[in-house]
Amino acid sequence: MKDLTGLKFGYFTVLEQCEKIPYQHRRWKCQCKCGKIKIVDEYNLIKGKSISCGCYRKQLVSKKMTKHGKTNTKLFHVWLSMKDRCNNPNKKAYKDYGGRGIKVCDEWQNDFMSFYNWAITNGYNENLESGQCTIERIDVNGNYEPQNCTFKTTKEQANNRRSNIIIEYNNEKHTLMEWCEKLGLNYKRTLRRYHVMIKGSKYIKTIEDLFNETSLKRNIILTYDNKTLNASEWSRLLNIPQQTIWDRYNKGFCVDDILYQGNFSKKLSQESR
Ligand SMILES: [Zn+2]
Repeated sequence: MKDLTGLKFGYFTVLEQCEKIPYQHRRWKCQCKCGKIKIVDEYNLIKGKSISCGCYRKQLVSKKMTKHGKTNTKLFHVWLSMKDRCNNPNKKAYKDYGGRGIKVCDEWQNDFMSFYNWAITNGYNENLESGQCTIERIDVNGNYEPQNCTFKTTKEQANNRRSNIIIEYNNEKHTLMEWCEKLGLNYKRTLRRYHVMIKGSKYIKTIEDLFNETSLKRNIILTYDNKTLNASEWSRLLNIPQQTIWDRYNKGFCVDDILYQGNFSKKLSQESR
């Protein structure tokens, strides 16, 4: 058997042979060009399957990324911060990730392009603002790896957060936000009306009422300046077209703005000055 001491294989220089394990290839202690020491299987060394401690591949990847101009992408930062959460104890989030034993799989850890290729075929949307499309683990105790991950938009996350308001209607159960999307209702307004309903309102008594836009139009009750009137009464009192009151109400304006007697776009442009 040939002594490999002193020979070079790729980035490796062989330092010495390691203790022989019966029935296995010989292993050699090698020093990489970058200085790292690694034990390498003789077979991998001779066949050129192992040519560096890993730094060659890293260089290749970073070259590849620079070539593709991906280092400036939002996804690149998603990748970096995912690795930080799991590997960098100096990061605030580390205690909830790396600190709990959550890892990034080797494939993603070492190769951005591998992560990139998975991401773009699994729901990642580079056109959304930074932070609007985030990587989520399906099993929150599991690792960052292709089988356990998915991309979620902030809307979907908000949906999850608001899942405490579950509404059953027509034998279907959805969150209030899902209902609003399904029925084309304004979420903010419907949420407000929902709270009115559960406090006990004579206009919004049932889910049917809550989802009924026609009842909404008829029954806008506004309290302002200690007066409680409906839309048509306010309309007469302040000489604002009733349609304007409905429109403003439906846009989610506050009472002050709903009952503003004047040209609203003028008011807005004055305020922003
Ligand atoms: Zn190296």
